[in-house]
Amino acid sequence: MSVMSQTAPYDVEAVRSDFPIFRTEIRGKPLAFLDSGASAQKPQAVLDAMDALYTGAYANVHRGAYMLSEKATAAYEGSREIVRGFINARSVKEIVYTRNATEGINLVASSYGRKFLKAGDAVLISEMEHHANIVPWQLLREQIGIELRIVPVADDGSWLMEEYRKRLDGVKLVALTHTSNVLGTVTPAKEITALAHAAGAKVLLDGSQAVVHRTVDMQDIDCDFYVFTGHKLYGPTGIGVLYGKEALLDAMPPYQGGGDMIRIVTFEKSTWADLPHKFEAGTPAIAEAVGLGAAIRYVEGVGIERIAQHETQLLNYATQRLSAVKGLNIHGTAVGKAGVISFTLDSAHPHDISTIVDRAGVAIRAGHHCAQPLMARLGVPATARASLAMYSTKAEIDQLAAALDVVVEMFS
Ligand SMILES: *Cc1c(COP(=O)(O)O)cnc(C)c1O
Repeated sequence: MSVMSQTAPYDVEAVRSDFPIFRTEIRGKPLAFLDSGASAQKPQAVLDAMDALYTGAYANVHRGAYMLSEKATAAYEGSREIVRGFINARSVKEIVYTRNATEGINLVASSYGRKFLKAGDAVLISEMEHHANIVPWQLLREQIGIELRIVPVADDGSWLMEEYRKRLDGVKLVALTHTSNVLGTVTPAKEITALAHAAGAKVLLDGSQAVVHRTVDMQDIDCDFYVFTGHKLYGPTGIGVLYGKEALLDAMPPYQGGGDMIRIVTFEKSTWADLPHKFEAGTPAIAEAVGLGAAIRYVEGVGIERIAQHETQLLNYATQRLSAVKGLNIHGTAVGKAGVISFTLDSAHPHDISTIVDRAGVAIRAGHHCAQPLMARLGVPATARASLAMYSTKAEIDQLAAALDVVVEMFS
């Protein structure tokens, strides 16, 4: 692993060489991978950590009073401490492993929602939410009759604090994206949280796109819940994180029942394990948790703020370069946005765009990006999206821009 010194200039080629996928060619062309917003590639360190667990320290966790199980448990719980440090939570009791961000939000909707919300209580979301932060609340609305209230966003994707403030009356839970996966908009999490708390509401933030681009600090933001997903943070699939304040998690009922989450079971009554295990029913994703820990260590080794700087420079370059493509419109230009560029072409449908640029070895996303209400708001059926990561390069942007010129020519 060639983690750079934190003081040396950002060496994107060194970072890239840590990701084996970049040795792959696509149709004989170098791979330009611009879809990390959907799922990021994995550094060798993550593969090695999972491999080492399976080859030398694998057993089920928390159960066996034998060496291998103790080793596996130490690795699994060690990752939890890495996650805690990464988001600066107070305690590992506040770090619940989930399958992904989606499961984290469903957990809060089911457990917190059904216990603490009642008919008529409002849950506030925004126009730029991922389906993962819309549908669980609609399910809850069907189950218990909550009101779902929507904050509009500006045409350029900017967060509208006044619109938010105006809608807080009667809200019991604010559930918002910390960074839009379509527009790149970074929401002012700390201010949003303070206003919600002043109005008597709890706050859940969807950090799926935020933790990969910025430092996030639970104690600074002071939100009540925070979710993210491992596979976008250079870790494996099948592992995500729900952060929750200890007192809240303590007061919430289990989300699923089964092994690992109980203290004592009798046919009459069962009691629950301590946090965070109360919310981790069944055999967990052991190797995936270890992989996530390795991914975070890797990101910390490079430095999240240096990654952010690299991505911001590249975002500026890409914005300029793509704006020069004939008939190209960028959706989402909020100040301080993250490295996500959604765009449409006057001449070609997003699906055609992605299919054609793929021929040039360029992987971008096309579609509704799990944000259909936002597509409706933008007045487009779909967009194409290029998303940046720690390993993205100017050459990849040039490769995309050249491929887009070809698309424009084909459709003119
Ligand atoms: C990807 C994403 C999710 C869902 O992540 P999963 O891993 O599919 O659970 C939720 N919100 C945002 C903003 C995302 O980008």
